[in-house]
Amino acid sequence: MDVVYDKGRCKALTTPTHLIFDSNLGRKKPETIIKRENSCPFCDREHLQDIIAEKGSMILLKNKFPVLQEAFQTVLIETDECNSDLSIYPKAHLYQLLQFGIENWMQMMENKEYRSVCFFRNYGPLSGGTIAHPHSQIIAFKEYDYLKQINKSDFTGLTIERRKGVELNISTKPRVGFYEFNVILEEMKELQPFADYIQMIAHFILHHFIYRCNSYNLFFYYYDHKIIVKIVPRFVTSPLFIGYSIPQVPNNLEEVVHLFKSKYR
Ligand SMILES: [Zn+2]
Repeated sequence: MDVVYDKGRCKALTTPTHLIFDSNLGRKKPETIIKRENSCPFCDREHLQDIIAEKGSMILLKNKFPVLQEAFQTVLIETDECNSDLSIYPKAHLYQLLQFGIENWMQMMENKEYRSVCFFRNYGPLSGGTIAHPHSQIIAFKEYDYLKQINKSDFTGLTIERRKGVELNISTKPRVGFYEFNVILEEMKELQPFADYIQMIAHFILHHFIYRCNSYNLFFYYYDHKIIVKIVPRFVTSPLFIGYSIPQVPNNLEEVVHLFKSKYR
């Protein structure tokens, strides 16, 4: 008798707790690439391979060093300007980028081969990135469900501002600790205020924050039928979190909200 192998059902039963990192590929991956003319692989556009989608100066392609097993790793090269950053993109480019990134992320989410898809961005030496050229990553997991680690409280906080269907807040229950900004998009059609908030917070972190900060991350989540972005200024991670998973919340959130409002009004 033939046994019908129901992949969908098997998937539902197994939920891996860890992603597997390919240490052989990891070894081949170049260390932090310091900005030097001609040395940036994302500036060398003629030699880019495995391009998935392209729009203006934006290119989505397969990651050349796919260090994660059971995953489809892509890189979104955001611009042809090596020294730029999301915090200073012209508005038209910012909106196009968010649209292009979210569309491709959603498209991967719709693919039944994947259990979940994460979309994030690193900037600066403490953000975990290896290439300085402005880019984000969209990674589809075959078995892993990133939402298992996400709670509603990760996105609740002190409201900083609200515009149309978009809320900007600062976490009162941060995932890891300290300052985590959340931008919550209720409806896709309000992409512009959503993009504006993301850019303002990235700029705020790098130029007007209460501590000197040169690194941040953006994390996109599709949670509760909403698109949410968490923007996290990065410092050295607290040992209490590394060793004990204890998150910390600072007692000066109001001060940060006040500072932000004084600079961006
Ligand atoms: Zn470059």
